[in-house]
Amino acid sequence: MNGFSYRRGELFAEEVPVAEIAAVAGTPVYVYSAGAVRERFRAYAGAFADLPVLFCYAVKANPHLAILRLLSAEGAGADTVSGGEIARALAAGVPPSRIVFAGVAKTDGEMRLGLHHRILQFNVESLEELERLDAVAREADTRAPVAIRINPDVAAGSHDKISTGRRGDKFGVPIEEAVEAYERAAALPGIEPVGLHLHIGSQIAELAPFARAYRRAVELWRDLRTRGIALERIDFGGGFGIRYREEAPPDPGALAAMVRELTAGTGCRLIFEPGRALVGEAGILVSRVIYRKETRAGRYLVVDAGMHTLMRPALYDAWHDIFSVREPPPGTPLLTMDVVGPICESSDILGRDRRLPALGRGDLIAVGATGAYGAAMVSNYNSRPRPAEVLVEGGRWAVIKPRVEPSAQFADEIVPPWLAAPEGSDRAGGSHSDAGD
Ligand SMILES: *Cc1c(COP(=O)(O)O)cnc(C)c1O
Repeated sequence: MNGFSYRRGELFAEEVPVAEIAAVAGTPVYVYSAGAVRERFRAYAGAFADLPVLFCYAVKANPHLAILRLLSAEGAGADTVSGGEIARALAAGVPPSRIVFAGVAKTDGEMRLGLHHRILQFNVESLEELERLDAVAREADTRAPVAIRINPDVAAGSHDKISTGRRGDKFGVPIEEAVEAYERAAALPGIEPVGLHLHIGSQIAELAPFARAYRRAVELWRDLRTRGIALERIDFGGGFGIRYREEAPPDPGALAAMVRELTAGTGCRLIFEPGRALVGEAGILVSRVIYRKETRAGRYLVVDAGMHTLMRPALYDAWHDIFSVREPPPGTPLLTMDVVGPICESSDILGRDRRLPALGRGDLIAVGATGAYGAAMVSNYNSRPRPAEVLVEGGRWAVIKPRVEPSAQFADEIVPPWLAAPEGSDRAGGSHSDAGD
């Protein structure tokens, strides 16, 4: 189940007509299928059931509390990349013993937060961070459980901007410096080396890059053990691809078979950090057509969703399926058009050269596979409403994040008193001034 299908001539999210949601919640609106998220999680959990594994959902893919709650109830932990994400995971009820914390720029405050809550593991990205974490942990009179993120120098074969495991990427410690890093970690009183971490990138649609990286990690794990550093777990990261267009990503069973073979005999506990793979295909972005614009130069479907609501096409040249919410009857003639958003940027294109029926003003479209890295990257650019988010489960649905109108977006903006005061009124106010007026 991906949660979305045509029934009786229109698109449904599980058992709810998408047009009904759009009419109540407004557009653009993100719609998620709880059943589809759960089913993806269970596919992974089931395939790995015979292995000592913990799936830590990568919060950044879709950080909504309801998604976190749903996955946590299934037994997932959380992979976080900031103090804010740790706070979210805790607020959603994810036990600290299932929270791992990655990220290249952890601050002292974020380290203290993780230590205070006794999270499972800090995934450390550099020697500099290791030394800092040691100091912060000792100040707090504790030891930080650490996995060092290794950069295995593997090209993931996905988009350049979402590859993270090549030598020149900013993430992790180069694998040839790993032994040195672990020896340092073992010598620091505030550090408890517990694991090894890697994450080679995102939207990887083949098994081979994972197998190469994981093999390197297991070899390193063995090497460290012969040197007296026995790590109890390996965290292989996330990055499992989904189907946006014609990709055929590895299924959880194939992944599990590969992992089972590579880790046989290690006795290691395993962690994975899937984000996109759990939620990506479980969401759509529903948008209303404002105009169909035709010139001699081209045909454009101008809609109310765009790069402010879905950055991926503009940011990564990502392809998302775009389809009509009303099912085109068989034989409907299709027109070629660019589907574009309302933002004043040439890059605000959701899809080029799409074949769609002759949609017009007021019609609804859906942008597929937008459950991951969609709502998470929404911006206020051009002061348009931030989309509502809706969760559907069977025949039930709920607005899980109301639409935010522009007036609410600027409600917390402050015009300083020297600009705000109309003539004749008291100008003394709470401004900071070096000139001392
Ligand atoms: C982004 C990220 C993930 C999740 O990546 P997906 O491609 O969404 O699975 C996992 N681990 C780390 C460290 C990340 O930064």
